[in-house]
Amino acid sequence: MTDLQPTEIAVSLERLRRVPTDELTDVVENDGLCLWTFTCAPPWEEDGELTDRDLAELQCAGCSVRDECLELELRTAGADTVGVWGALTEHERREVHRHWLRRRERVERGPRS
Ligand code: SF4
Repeated sequence: MTDLQPTEIAVSLERLRRVPTDELTDVVENDGLCLWTFTCAPPWEEDGELTDRDLAELQCAGCSVRDECLELELRTAGADTVGVWGALTEHERREVHRHWLRRRERVERGPRS
């Protein structure tokens, strides 16, 4: 996983909270490294068994839209997320999702009176 803790990742995604989902989708589809670099099987698929953690590091290294990809996956798949997205494994993303969801719900509720 990244050096950040799940709660820190959730905080770092706050800057994307107001970005519409269709805009995030466009950004990830246009600039996501894994979505345009490989026109055939990525080279590591021929290297035998890799863990999802290995794949997250190999696939997402250097991708400029990791945060957008992660935000999009948290919004659209939530706790049902599978595979590697946003440089995290599904287990890691589920951990982030718990914190992300809690923060978003707190923001939606607004300050307590
Ligand atoms: S962060 Fe990873 S999964 Fe997401 S678009 Fe970039 S390379 Fe693909």
